[in-house]
Amino acid sequence: MKITFWGAAKTVTGSCHLLEHGSLRFLLDCGLFQGHDEARNRQDFPFDPEGIDYVVLSHAHLDHCGMIPRLVREGFRGQVISTPPTAAIAKHILLDAAHLQEEEAERHARRAARRGEPPPAPLFDVGDVLEALDHFSLRPGYGEWVSLGEGVRIRFHDAGHVLGSAMVEVSWDGGSLVFSGDLGSRGRPIVRDPEPAPKADYLLCEGTYGDRPHKSFQESFVEFRDAVREVLQGGGNVLIPSFALERTQEVLYVLFLLWREGDLPKRTEIVLDSPLASATTRVFRRYADWFDEEGRKLFREPVNPFSFPALRIVRSVEESKALNHAGGGHVIIAGSGMCTGGRIVHHLRHQIWKEENGVVFVGYQARGTLGREIVEGAKKVRILGEEVAVRARIWTINGFSAHADREELLGWISAASPSKGLFLVHGEERALESLAGGLKAKGLSPVIPDPGDSVAL
Ligand SMILES: [Zn+2]
Repeated sequence: MKITFWGAAKTVTGSCHLLEHGSLRFLLDCGLFQGHDEARNRQDFPFDPEGIDYVVLSHAHLDHCGMIPRLVREGFRGQVISTPPTAAIAKHILLDAAHLQEEEAERHARRAARRGEPPPAPLFDVGDVLEALDHFSLRPGYGEWVSLGEGVRIRFHDAGHVLGSAMVEVSWDGGSLVFSGDLGSRGRPIVRDPEPAPKADYLLCEGTYGDRPHKSFQESFVEFRDAVREVLQGGGNVLIPSFALERTQEVLYVLFLLWREGDLPKRTEIVLDSPLASATTRVFRRYADWFDEEGRKLFREPVNPFSFPALRIVRSVEESKALNHAGGGHVIIAGSGMCTGGRIVHHLRHQIWKEENGVVFVGYQARGTLGREIVEGAKKVRILGEEVAVRARIWTINGFSAHADREELLGWISAASPSKGLFLVHGEERALESLAGGLKAKGLSPVIPDPGDSVAL
């Protein structure tokens, strides 16, 4: 077996690695680069898409599945293997991404036309996504072996990161490997805790938070409650830029608990203003038996985190725009999570310059995004071509993270303790270096591969 590390070696987005064994060639993830690394999406694939037999997909985040439509357009004829919830969620995530790509291409086309240049094509469009979805044809549950040929088989284990997320165990004649995908944090609502890594010769592990602890979910819950209450009691609106998958559902879960306990001012209206998050929330409802025990119990009730009197789900653009002129008392959850597009951008433009309002960040903000600028304390930001003052109060609450933190990674990796090789992938360089330091202190020998490095396993 030979592995070539692509994508997520030394970057936090664009997860993708190539495995080759005999005539079999398959990918672990095929993700999009985001933020700072975006330009890499337009480079040629470093392998021939036609020669790839399978994509084994760990979960439905765009930085893990977002290049599949382009892979299909460029000749991939194989099958995508994912859990059933991952396939269902990826459909919405990819369609939404295609719409954004098309919009962006249109904007650039107008500019290109003014310069007398040919219009740029979107990275992929809705047609490419529809075609790609036909390839999501193998949907095993956790623990079910799938044979790929050449004596190679794979199975998924619960990674506890987002609904349906998986780590991948690969087994072949004379060897085995585990790919962590993105590893979840323990004790979070809805998702189950990550499983321990199965014993394997080699481990490929992410290190997004390899250099940092998070606060516990409980501490973050209190911080979140205090922030939201403070803004609402002062007559302002709370904006929550949120990832459509998992984070939004967790935020709804927390707001539901606050509402149920009477912790929010009366007449607070919680507004979910994200067509994508609404769609993924519907998928969550459908796959409620994949939740942890507490989640399953809660969601059996008719009044639950996805359906309660204080919650309004906004559908039309008109209804969304009307919020720009609404008074205080609203908690508005909208995407995208890093403020790089979607309805949150309009809400920020109309609300962030008012000091009574608040913006509560509950997710990772990559370098080069509007979200990162705001979190880092910019006094003015450019939003949709206009300079806007940042006067609203800004909170960053990191305990909602869907990623294991440094201590959790150290514990999980050392318990796995692979016998032949440990590779750290998928994290900013300093996070991976720091994690490697911690692992060396525990007697392990981690390697941080460069993109394009190959190793015979
Ligand atoms: Zn992820």
